[in-house]
Amino acid sequence: MARHTGSVCRLCRREGQKLFLKGKRCNTEKCAVERRAYPPGQHGLARARRRRQSDYAVQLREKQKVRRIYGLQEAQFHNLFKRAAQAQGITGDNLIIALETRLDNVVYRLGFAPSRKAARQLVRHRHILVDGKTVTIPSYEVKPGHEISVKPASREMPVVMEAADMRGGDGLLSWLSADHKKLSGRMLETPTRADIPLAVQEQLVVELYSK
Ligand code: SF4
Repeated sequence: MARHTGSVCRLCRREGQKLFLKGKRCNTEKCAVERRAYPPGQHGLARARRRRQSDYAVQLREKQKVRRIYGLQEAQFHNLFKRAAQAQGITGDNLIIALETRLDNVVYRLGFAPSRKAARQLVRHRHILVDGKTVTIPSYEVKPGHEISVKPASREMPVVMEAADMRGGDGLLSWLSADHKKLSGRMLETPTRADIPLAVQEQLVVELYSK
């Protein structure tokens, strides 16, 4: 599936909820979901009024929602799912934990980037260190004990400053620690599903791919 190049707000409107893909703007009244709470496009309003969706449609929408939150393409997401299904434990939990421990997501969760997309750019453009070494792979799996930091020369970047403005409020997740003055943080332990604040029903994704 091709990479989405249009407005990311359309993705939120398509899923009918805020996916927080745009950083600071998502918390303002400019948010497209708040202004137009129906699917995008000419027939968006009509689609919103349509009768109940089939089970397949519900499962598909949930999968698309999870995939869009983490910004993965279909092939990447499906590969991750296959690995989650082969691992021990509950497939849905394994999937969400694998998504959460990606380097781009950890950079975002640590509050060093205003969105996962911005975090991915920071990683790709060599601004992020793992245990003192540059890592440019957004899907890099962060393990407990790894130290994640923003390179000293990159700390004044506008995107990093925007993330600083957004910090506070919700606080840091229990499985992470961070020193925001030094822009450095650590994964303390591998999270469980209960440690991850993500309002999705991953079981629907499992059911979709198990057909
Ligand atoms: Fe989604 Fe953010 Fe756009 Fe709102 S502003 S529709 S949450 S990307």
